[in-house]
Amino acid sequence: MIVVKFGGTSMADAAAIRRAGEIVRTRLKREPIVVVSALSGVTNQLLQVGAQAVEGQLVPAMATVQALRERHLNEAHALLGDTASGLEVAGELSSMMDELAALAEALSVLGHGTPRAMDKIAALGEQLSSLIAAAAFREMGLAARHVDARDVMRTDERFGKAEPQPELISEAARRVLSPIIRAGQVPVLGGFVGATAQRVTTTLGRGGSDYSASLIGAALRAEAIEIWTDVDGMLSADPRVVADARLIAEIRFDEASELASFGAKVLHPSTIAPAVKLGIPVYLFNSRNPAGTGTRITFEAPHRPVTAIAGKKNVTVIKVRSARMLMAHGVLRRIFEVFEQHRTSVDVVATSEVSVSVTIDDTTYLEALLNDLQPLGDVSVERNRGILALVGSGMSDDSQAMARALAALEGARVHMVSLSASGINLTLIVDGDQVDPGIRRLHAAFFGRQVA
Ligand code: ADP
Ligand code: ASP
Ligand code: MG
Repeated sequence: MIVVKFGGTSMADAAAIRRAGEIVRTRLKREPIVVVSALSGVTNQLLQVGAQAVEGQLVPAMATVQALRERHLNEAHALLGDTASGLEVAGELSSMMDELAALAEALSVLGHGTPRAMDKIAALGEQLSSLIAAAAFREMGLAARHVDARDVMRTDERFGKAEPQPELISEAARRVLSPIIRAGQVPVLGGFVGATAQRVTTTLGRGGSDYSASLIGAALRAEAIEIWTDVDGMLSADPRVVADARLIAEIRFDEASELASFGAKVLHPSTIAPAVKLGIPVYLFNSRNPAGTGTRITFEAPHRPVTAIAGKKNVTVIKVRSARMLMAHGVLRRIFEVFEQHRTSVDVVATSEVSVSVTIDDTTYLEALLNDLQPLGDVSVERNRGILALVGSGMSDDSQAMARALAALEGARVHMVSLSASGINLTLIVDGDQVDPGIRRLHAAFFGRQVA
């Protein structure tokens, strides 16, 4: 059994959904379970509807609802026409859209949206897309069966970024998905969406469909997980930044995971974890180029000093300085406890005898963090920084890598440098506007410029 996941761009419209169906057809012998994202851009639009409704801007919110309704109905019609299944799907899509409109109205009356209500709205994207994909695949002659992700993906109640519960998911996957596969059918379900024990809808956090795929793969001990996206695989840098980025044929789990956390959006960082634990290989493929060889993510990939370069913007640096740290112990523990309390994950750390600098991505609890750090020293914040990350499992064997990286960035201000203990990740904190040029310069230094 394999899990085949299609991202938003691979589900963008009727033509893309048909391409996905053709890919599934080539996988039938391997007993695929299909996980789909929302149609591209839909999750953003849904969240926008929620936000506008809460602010009382019902008119633009309803305009977006209408646009979403038309887009889904049009694509479904292009795939299914006026067949019985086409009419049935259109009816279901319409009632989901009515529900969205009702939710938006309710939120605008309340003037307040809970994370729970927002999840109900955000989840609609995958609920709509999975319904359309399952019906479209059937129309193409595949024995596809729609499965409500909430019947399988059990999570806790942390709305907005719910924690999946692997044992319950395993049990549900065996109960719900295995019989469908045994019957020779192809289960099709939405990623990103889950439900609590009381069956209240949750979501796994942005980009969470990869995570769904990996959790289901782990639950059923899949032979492989295939992530189908809009690029040929993991590349040596984001192709939107570096035009001549190269395809990486094989990459280690830990390298891919580091790259994902430092901005290589092609893969959701947590995707890796459940699959890694069981040694299930994850592949990245391009749904527009199914003949491509893609990227294989495994344990045993060649050691390279630098496998790829990633970067991210909007990073916040927090510095805590105190002479009391000199020769004192336990200071780091106290500092990190504050981050733990406020559920904020730290990406990069650099320390000196009297100061600790950390970077965070998520500033939701910034004020609370700063308040609680204050007693530990002088606290300062630098916003609009960026991270450049060079990732390679052979980095620590290459004594020149850091020197080359710094030389490539000459002239740019480097605020922090950190080489991870595992030696696979060199991170540099720069000004936010230096991230893209920095990635290009590092890429040129380590991969050379390809002649166009
Ligand atoms: P999907 O809709 O399939 O989930 P995403 O938009 O989440 O796709 O991720 C694919 C995008 O990730 C690519 O279009 C690419 O711009 C971006 N990306 C960033 N870094 C990399 C990288 N190192 N290799 C490949 N793609 C990358
Ligand atoms: N549709 C969701 C998002 O845009 C999940 C995903 O596509 O992975 O975040
Ligand atoms: Mg994605």
